[in-house]
Amino acid sequence: MSIHLKEHPLAGSFDSLDLIDPLCRAVAEEKYTTPTPIQSQAIPHLLAGRDLLGCAQTGTGKTAAFALPILQYLAKNPKSAARYGARALVLTPTRELALQIADSFRVYGRNLKIKHAVVFGGASYNNQVRELSRGVDVLVATPGRLLDLHGQGHARLNNVELLVLDEADRMLDMGFLPDIRRIVATIPEKRQTMLFSATLPKEILKLSEQFLNDPAHVSVTPPSSTVEKIDQRVLFVERENKTALLHAMLEDESLYRVLVFTRTKHGANRTVQKLRKSGVEAEALHGNKSQAARVQALNKFRSGKARVLVATDVAARGLDIDGITHVINYELPNEPESYVHRIGRTARAGALGVALSFCDAGEHAYLRNIERVTKRAVTVLDSHPFHSAAIASSGKRPAKPAASARPRPRQRSRKPSPRRVESVQGAWNRGGGVPSGMANHQRRRAR
Ligand code: AMP
Repeated sequence: MSIHLKEHPLAGSFDSLDLIDPLCRAVAEEKYTTPTPIQSQAIPHLLAGRDLLGCAQTGTGKTAAFALPILQYLAKNPKSAARYGARALVLTPTRELALQIADSFRVYGRNLKIKHAVVFGGASYNNQVRELSRGVDVLVATPGRLLDLHGQGHARLNNVELLVLDEADRMLDMGFLPDIRRIVATIPEKRQTMLFSATLPKEILKLSEQFLNDPAHVSVTPPSSTVEKIDQRVLFVERENKTALLHAMLEDESLYRVLVFTRTKHGANRTVQKLRKSGVEAEALHGNKSQAARVQALNKFRSGKARVLVATDVAARGLDIDGITHVINYELPNEPESYVHRIGRTARAGALGVALSFCDAGEHAYLRNIERVTKRAVTVLDSHPFHSAAIASSGKRPAKPAASARPRPRQRSRKPSPRRVESVQGAWNRGGGVPSGMANHQRRRAR
């Protein structure tokens, strides 16, 4: 049954959430002053012990929304975990997310005595087995590796009291459903279950009916607010000129920390090789890389040693990297949701952000879909050396034939307004071609 929270008199402060002192101190130490919408909606239900179906994506503060109530439950109901056992289990699709979530438990639980462990594929079993052997309060895991460990007797799930399915839609996309079913079948039915998903397609609702018991529903819609802060541009370019355009873009130093998205892993590798050849420090992030190589690539990007990270959607999903000034869609994604996720990697924590999308002749339909879903037209940036007027005009919507000969009163269109074309001739050469994703203070630091 869906329950919508009424505004609490203290809504807007962590004090209204009945969190225990060690957790209040931890969030204060993180400089969080107000709960995010998913936190203020979800935490009261979870503290009351209810199951929860949450529609929220990474970037909304959903990790704290489930981690704080879990930590509170564990602190208020102390019990030592059985050997190889876990009291709370968080399943998440990727290694990067698993590491991020485990780190959040460490940060939010820093004033409590909580043992946690993280297990994921692509890393050695030894350390993971050792950590599990002592029994943990919180286990964060990707489904495949957890099942392997469980099959070998190194993970016991029969004492799990709290279960989180994080990024459930992505786990389904990645084919984890059979693994998830097998894992859930080994967990006691008497448990508190939380399912978070960025989207709620039919399959997710079905899953929630099977796994959740009378859940509270909470939903936040961050994309529009996030999207509004981002300066979005589309650059029409022939496919074969995309590499040259990327190089031309990167001549502008205000593209300081740049996340480039390609559709394929090979595309990501090729792009990195070409960038390196021309002297741009770049790293690739995708599923074919070993865990060690991924961590290394991310560290180089985070520390600024690599200016450009070229990633695929799956690998970059949920990455929380501060200070990304520009997201470049080397290829447009065919799902508008992926576009929203991608560009949401910039403009985090109130910073400015720019999203540049390279659109070739075959990608017009994707662009139109994106504009329909985000309910806004993407501004055209044509002041670059590879602008294709032919592609730009080929995408113009054909005028609709009149439905009847009789003129009708004009109605307001609900479609995005026609694209504003920014035609700053010569702006490129004057250095004004690319919008800057950095606030002035960031620029000063960058120099
Ligand atoms: P998440 O969606 O859990 O990945 O969180 C996204 C980012 O928001 C992380 O960097 C968190 O540290 C940050 N965050 C979470 N909750 C809050 C809050 N209440 N106030 C400020 N930042 C937050």
